[in-house]
Amino acid sequence: MAETIEEIAAGLVSVARGFYRRGWLMGTSGNLSAVVEHEPLRLAITASGVDKGELTAEQVLLVDDAVQLVKESSRKPSDESLLHVRIVKERGAGAVLHTHSIWNTIFSDLHAKYGGVRIEGFEMLKGLAGVRSHEHSEWLPIVDNSQDMPALAETISKTLNAHPSAHAFLIRRHGLYTWGDDLAQAKRHLEILEFLLETMGQTAIIKTSRG
Ligand SMILES: [Zn+2]
Repeated sequence: MAETIEEIAAGLVSVARGFYRRGWLMGTSGNLSAVVEHEPLRLAITASGVDKGELTAEQVLLVDDAVQLVKESSRKPSDESLLHVRIVKERGAGAVLHTHSIWNTIFSDLHAKYGGVRIEGFEMLKGLAGVRSHEHSEWLPIVDNSQDMPALAETISKTLNAHPSAHAFLIRRHGLYTWGDDLAQAKRHLEILEFLLETMGQTAIIKTSRG
């Protein structure tokens, strides 16, 4: 049976608070969404400028595919809602999660000149949907940041089409987007990618300090 908007909002609140405690959604950054209905699209998404560590169900809004409020609220949807809608449409996703962690921000900058980050050979990759072996090679594309959301949404569509097997992408000096068939799968993807980026970053530090 399909989940109600209340159940979905409670799920987003729980995930947001957990991610905040991990330091991935500081200073009201990031946003989380889950599909309530695909046709017509009804997307539950965190409101703009809210503290994710103290997120409440009332701060989860319901929008349509034009990012217009379907259920009345005094709050406004995040500027990045358009990107969530685009990812849902391009990937048929049931949930989209966006974090601004220290490690994803560092990698989004340091690897921008290569156009992405290659992650391979880690057991944790097997937690990504469809991945069966640690020998998997995941390419995390990086797109340039922009405050022009319609333009950024177009760039993201092109990137997703160019990398049909990608589970996520980075926006330069900004953050990480990932998704899943449902909130549980998207949460798993986010945790795995944050784990792997931190592992790679910490490894580079250790190697450097050893000379
Ligand atoms: Zn952001």
